[in-house]
Amino acid sequence: MSDLTAHTIHPNLLRHILGNLHCLLIRDAVLDLFTEIVKTPSTLLDPTHADLSEPCWIYRGKLLNIDGQLYSVTDAEGIRHGSNETVTVSALGVPVASQLCQRNNPIVLQSTDIANYQGSEPLHTTTGRLLLNYVILVDPFGSLVPYVNAEWKIGAIEEQLVDYLFTGRLTVDQIKHYSRNIHWLGHFTELAVPNFTERSLTIDPKIIARRDELLKQHRAEIDAGDAVVMSRIESELVAMDRESLKGDVSTLFYDRDSKSYDNHRKATMILGGMVQNFTDGEKKYSFIENSLEEGWNAENIPIICNEIRRGSYARAKQTAKGGEETKFIIRVFQNTRIIEEDCGTTYCLHVNLTRDMAKKYLYRNIIVDERRITLGVDVIEYYVGQVVRMRSPLYCSTKNGYCYTCMGELFRSINQELITMIAVNVSSSFTLAALKSKHVTQAKRIEVRSLDRFVV
Ligand SMILES: [Zn+2]
Repeated sequence: MSDLTAHTIHPNLLRHILGNLHCLLIRDAVLDLFTEIVKTPSTLLDPTHADLSEPCWIYRGKLLNIDGQLYSVTDAEGIRHGSNETVTVSALGVPVASQLCQRNNPIVLQSTDIANYQGSEPLHTTTGRLLLNYVILVDPFGSLVPYVNAEWKIGAIEEQLVDYLFTGRLTVDQIKHYSRNIHWLGHFTELAVPNFTERSLTIDPKIIARRDELLKQHRAEIDAGDAVVMSRIESELVAMDRESLKGDVSTLFYDRDSKSYDNHRKATMILGGMVQNFTDGEKKYSFIENSLEEGWNAENIPIICNEIRRGSYARAKQTAKGGEETKFIIRVFQNTRIIEEDCGTTYCLHVNLTRDMAKKYLYRNIIVDERRITLGVDVIEYYVGQVVRMRSPLYCSTKNGYCYTCMGELFRSINQELITMIAVNVSSSFTLAALKSKHVTQAKRIEVRSLDRFVV
């Protein structure tokens, strides 16, 4: 599965798969179909009987290689111990190939082919989607959850499942069945390892050549600990690496977040890069100039050890700090409640409702021409891009608490009067940052051209 080009699958093979969907739950069968594997060899006795050449597990739908042609076993399941055991077979009319199908082979399904598709039109889909639908949706739920013929967003599917569970349309046992199947398929690394490609496992030599050139050119600045230059070198090389992987199937994995490039690939393939020094001396950053792939130099060992200690320190010490802040905030806010409808304050917070911020202000109240408007899902769209006057707890004039109008309608709709858990979000962020510093070691450089954004 090393490229994104789709090939067509032999129609007889597709008929075989659809006629034996239960085989998609058998590891041996899935490996025979989707991976480059030697198919079990056998000898034909007569057109419908074959002699097994080696011990193997037999099930209805198992593929055999008989003189370079694929045969399907029609016997019941069981282990066959050796030669001279006869099984019943039927010829598929398909020649043996090292890999029979790929997950992106286009196929067309009819309404009778799989339980969760009953449409009147033929369905254009792929072998990979057929596998996912059968194993994850049809085997546990039958026809209940419709065929998913787009990119799988498991969060949305599970939301739907929770809804079905609460409305009694499926049982807890079915959810457990689903969970077992999804974990079986999800850990099937022989089947899908998108990052296991030649380009993913190597680095373009041009990037290493450019690295060496940059290191030579900026020797003095690096030795002086110039963080801006170090960061520029890293950014340029990481951008080159990202560009060099474009179009490779591994990007399906890497493009989920920038950490794969900024941290993992950078350290493994290009260079260790900037490391914050352990002491508060003149030189704040050291620079590891080679990659893990090339091996560690003796002179970098102290830097790496310091980095490991720094990460562990942050995890242990600063997590404690975050926890303490949480306790403190809980004490401060534990008796703080929303106690009235509207305090009637005329003060508002002026908020520039940008697209990326809009989600955070859902169900808050704004004042337009002395009228109160709640920013519901549809309403908020109209105000995106505008500066609005927002009612805010910052200006709430309720004595000994807050009002619903200033806090927003979300609190009213979920009937939440206590606001402690919202306040704790702040200290939880400190804890998370401390934990993260153990895992992400890249130092980031941000250029600030104006301080206006940061001044309240
Ligand atoms: Zn208020």
